[in-house]
Amino acid sequence: MVGVDLPLTVERHIVATFAWGDDARVPAHGDLPNGYYFRPEGDDLFLMGPLHPEPTVDPDAFDERVGADETERLGSAVIRRAPSLRHATSRGGWASLYDVSPDWQPVIGEIAPGVFVDAGTSGHGFKLAPALGAHIADLLTGADADRGLEQFHPRRFERSGALDAGFGEARILG
Ligand SMILES: Cc1cc2nc3c(=O)[nH]c(=O)nc-3n(C[C@H](O)[C@H](O)[C@H](O)COP(=O)(O)OP(=O)(O)OC[C@H]3O[C@@H](n4cnc5c(N)ncnc54)[C@H](O)[C@@H]3O)c2cc1C
Repeated sequence: MVGVDLPLTVERHIVATFAWGDDARVPAHGDLPNGYYFRPEGDDLFLMGPLHPEPTVDPDAFDERVGADETERLGSAVIRRAPSLRHATSRGGWASLYDVSPDWQPVIGEIAPGVFVDAGTSGHGFKLAPALGAHIADLLTGADADRGLEQFHPRRFERSGALDAGFGEARILG
């Protein structure tokens, strides 16, 4: 409506859950070489997801289920890191969408007079929200917003100002 084309794409990402096998317990971790994140989910389960980019999809038509092959890939990866989990069993999972910016950091700022954007959180928006939320509220209310917010403006991509965060392909860790 304001003639601004945000540089965002949409990727399908999965979360797979597993029941711990026997007494094995492993703490939350990210495994860069094996390409996954991992954390306990309640007492009985742990969950995992991939760290790398995925192909773009049509946000109005994508598979919300997790395939057996996808579960198998994550399960095999964690067993390489933590062989004690070899008796874990799949408990299903889900798939949803990441709104991804070119550098996997959010796009935040005023894009037309009185029109603000806060999107493109690239699969790690919950983590960033506590730090960014108060500053974004200041931006919207015209208070003295933190000048550090400027680095997230979408115009950074026109100026080759991509933010350097994350670890290799694992940009959601940045
Ligand atoms: C599978 C998966 C796992 C994730 N895991 C993590 C994690 O471990 N840690 C982490 O930090 N982040 C994680 N994320 C990312 C996190 O969920 C997002 O970054 C965050 O939810 C983005 O918040 P948002 O408010 O920008 O957008 P959203 O949460 O998508 O909220 C946008 C809202 O706008 C509404 N809306 C859309 N269009 C319109 C319209 N036209 N009119 C009115 N309302 C509209 C939508 O219904 C929605 O409620 C994960 C995401 C996925 C998909």
